[in-house]
Amino acid sequence: MHIHPNAPAVVRTFAPDEPVILNRPHAAARAARFFVEKFPGKTLYAVKANPSPDLLKVLWGEGVTHFDVASIAEVRLVRATLPEATLCFMHPVKTARAIREAYFDHGVRTFSLDTHEELAKIVEATDHAADLRLCVRIRVSSEYAELSLASKFGCDLAEAGDLLQASRQVADWLGLCFHVGSQAMSPFAYVQALDRVRAAIADASVVIDMVDVGGGFPSVYPGMEPPPLEDYFAIINRHFDALPIAYNAELWCEPGRALCAEYNSLIVKVEKRRGNELYINDGAYGALYDAAHVGWRFPVRCLNADRGGDEATFTFYGPTCDDADFMEGPFTLPADIAAGDFVEIGMLGAYGAAMRTAFNGFGQGEAVEVSDEPMASLYDGSRQRPARDNVVSLR
Ligand SMILES: *Cc1c(COP(=O)(O)O)cnc(C)c1O
Repeated sequence: MHIHPNAPAVVRTFAPDEPVILNRPHAAARAARFFVEKFPGKTLYAVKANPSPDLLKVLWGEGVTHFDVASIAEVRLVRATLPEATLCFMHPVKTARAIREAYFDHGVRTFSLDTHEELAKIVEATDHAADLRLCVRIRVSSEYAELSLASKFGCDLAEAGDLLQASRQVADWLGLCFHVGSQAMSPFAYVQALDRVRAAIADASVVIDMVDVGGGFPSVYPGMEPPPLEDYFAIINRHFDALPIAYNAELWCEPGRALCAEYNSLIVKVEKRRGNELYINDGAYGALYDAAHVGWRFPVRCLNADRGGDEATFTFYGPTCDDADFMEGPFTLPADIAAGDFVEIGMLGAYGAAMRTAFNGFGQGEAVEVSDEPMASLYDGSRQRPARDNVVSLR
């Protein structure tokens, strides 16, 4: 694949009428190296954040060997892309058929669960396999995260002891997992979750082989500047070490966003301007789902060299005929931006490129590789610890 230097060069070459996804494999590789080298345990990639096979291969190439998959389609995709990868089926509600295919056809041994019903289903569907690696998901608070994952999955602390004991009976290897919510803005999110893990283990008094602190590791966006990831790793390590578990118990994490946010940006074209509203050719049904539905702000820059001077703030409309195809921003761009101009929207590697649909006939567009830096990075050495160093009181 031809590698372009940056977004302006892509615009000069193609003057693209459709949105263009820009891939930055060097940025994803750097994120993977960071986790592989610095996280004090094993790093799984949560595939749902961005299932691009090219990205999966980049992560594998940097030493990410385990993948958190949530559907049988993700199991098949990762298995076809990376035949040697270890797949962990971490959705706590699966069909019996999916469990069976994962176990017998794709070598999956690790499954998560949060109910006795799911435990029975896994045991049945695998014909009472003796080599199951089970992971009980417990519910934890999402209070430090920008996107909550607290209400849907995870058993309550009151039920955890019982479920851990029942799982221990049939599991060759037993873990505990949780998810603090996505874009956790303070490492303290993991402290409260690991406190719950401690309580669950004390209650169950069973041998625990693994603790999986899930995803939630942040990336950097306008208005969301997290503390350095090293602070998260240090706090997690300290609280993991203090748990009443076997000395050889493993520590896992399952980042999605933090591994892939910097992998993609997007070039869009301004089709129309109405006051400070820009009608662009991607939106809520494309890569800008979070910008529309949870008001996420992504970094933007105008790619037309002749624009400059004063700036103004804009909102975006996407291309479909739906009023909900609206991104409030605000997005800061040159005040004289006009129809026909191109804009790069950054940090769309996580839950951006993966969210595109064909609704209303939109959602086409090429992907090309570029070699420049992402519009922001947690891994380029530019990040300073915030002035107030007390990570616990950041929020
Ligand atoms: C979505 C998800 C992840 C990844 O979460 P991020 O916030 O993107 O890091 C990890 N584990 C599970 C079980 C998930 O559902």
